[in-house]
Amino acid sequence: MATLDEHPSEDGPAAPAAVFPEAETQDPSGWGAKFHSVRFRVVAAMLGMMLAGLITAGLVTFVVQFQEADARLDQALLDKANSVVKIVQTKKKTSGDYANRTYISALHEAAEDIEPRSNEVMAGIVDGRVAWTVEGNGDKALLEDSMLADAAELRNPAGASFGELDADGRPLRTVVVPMRGVTGTFFLVGRDAADQREHNASSVRTYSLVSLGMLLAAAVIGGIVAGRLLDPLRRLREASRAVGPEDLTQRVEVRKGEDDVTLLAKTFNTMLERLDEGAQQQQQFLDDAGHELRTPLTILRGHLELETVDDPDDVIATRDVLLDEVDRMQRLVDDLLLLANSGEIGFIQREPVRIPELLDQVMEKVHVLADRHWQIDERADYVVEADPQRLTQALVQLAANAVKYTRPSSTIALGSRIERPTATDGTSLPPQDTLVLWVRDDGIGIAAEDQQRIFERFGRVHTGRGVEGSGLGLAIVAAIAQAHGGVATVESEYGHGATFIIRIPLQSSGVRV
Ligand code: ADP
Repeated sequence: MATLDEHPSEDGPAAPAAVFPEAETQDPSGWGAKFHSVRFRVVAAMLGMMLAGLITAGLVTFVVQFQEADARLDQALLDKANSVVKIVQTKKKTSGDYANRTYISALHEAAEDIEPRSNEVMAGIVDGRVAWTVEGNGDKALLEDSMLADAAELRNPAGASFGELDADGRPLRTVVVPMRGVTGTFFLVGRDAADQREHNASSVRTYSLVSLGMLLAAAVIGGIVAGRLLDPLRRLREASRAVGPEDLTQRVEVRKGEDDVTLLAKTFNTMLERLDEGAQQQQQFLDDAGHELRTPLTILRGHLELETVDDPDDVIATRDVLLDEVDRMQRLVDDLLLLANSGEIGFIQREPVRIPELLDQVMEKVHVLADRHWQIDERADYVVEADPQRLTQALVQLAANAVKYTRPSSTIALGSRIERPTATDGTSLPPQDTLVLWVRDDGIGIAAEDQQRIFERFGRVHTGRGVEGSGLGLAIVAAIAQAHGGVATVESEYGHGATFIIRIPLQSSGVRV
């Protein structure tokens, strides 16, 4: 198992270098690799999106909030200015004292009576000039002399006008209202907005600090979570680096769960298992093939060593034996090659096959093999799509086996039948016909526990004296059946004969001859 703390690159140097050269050349612990890691990119993308969201939310909130605060301030100043103007106009009409005074001086008196707040200033503008100012804070004038000209410029005869002046670095929000019916006379009320602005700036600072904290927390938590989620990928990489031709036993530790990464780890393990299985089968096959080829070679060597070269009779006899053994080796190699190719496309060539004729031709070939009661059990009078050569090869092999494991008085029967599915299984698929071919004998049979093994390569049971064979015959029969999409099976009981059956599902329904 590749575990969290393993560093296979240090442990298994040779094989991974050859199998995964690219992986070996990369330094998984380098900073470059860290910046390119999925974990870093996932966290960076998440933080980027959070940052963009926080900035947008902050901008929208604060712009709206600041504008509203300015609007509230402007409205308060306007209300104040209007109320003063209204007082003056009322008094002018009703009070005898006021009747003879100018509007500007009446305004001045009203402003002084009202007493502006400590952060406020009031001013009277007449004919484009500031005529007087009343400061709320006598110690520190908001509307300094240098600003008077700018203040006078803020007037608008059409109605109230809002503005902002720079009072020595402090923002002075102003509203100027015209005196209705008195041309050229205006009244200004201004308020220091520095405190309000400072309050706004402090809100922005608090928001920024909280956001930064959130981003840092998200980076830490996101990093840990992403690391945990992607951990199987890291272990997958380590396991891949450790897997080599001589070690397919590595597996990735799979955590509980059904998430994508866990499923990937499971799939990876399944793939390794298959590779491992395939490699083991290949090794087994090579061992068996080597072993089988060694026997005829030993025989060849033995005969050659014992041969008396000056005795022509002995030379001829040895030659015959050697040719026999070479033939056996040839058959073995041919069978091995055939099995090796059996999985390839083109191994079988389908064409219309008339089953009764196929059976007759096989019978013609096999009845001369030995003196037995040869017979045909049943004939399927159908034409089906199959490879006649391969089917003949399989049936001849089964018949030859039957000869080997029966006595002269025994019966060997061939048969064929088309099986149609009787009941539908509830699916909408059209029922598929099956071609069934068999070779039956009443020989020694096969014990139940051996019936699986005999279809494997070199799987032999009755290997007594006089029974020749390589153990590849039934493997070839099974390969031919599988290449047709079917299976080869046996029904037998030890001592009571055997029936070898090939079942081939038909791609299209068989046609009657
Ligand atoms: P072999 O070359 O040994 O015959 P096969 O693959 O053809 O190899 O058969 C595998 C084994 O199956 C044989 O060794 C034999 O034990 C058993 N077998 C095959 N055919 C028969 C049969 N008709 N009756 C009994 N046993 C059989």
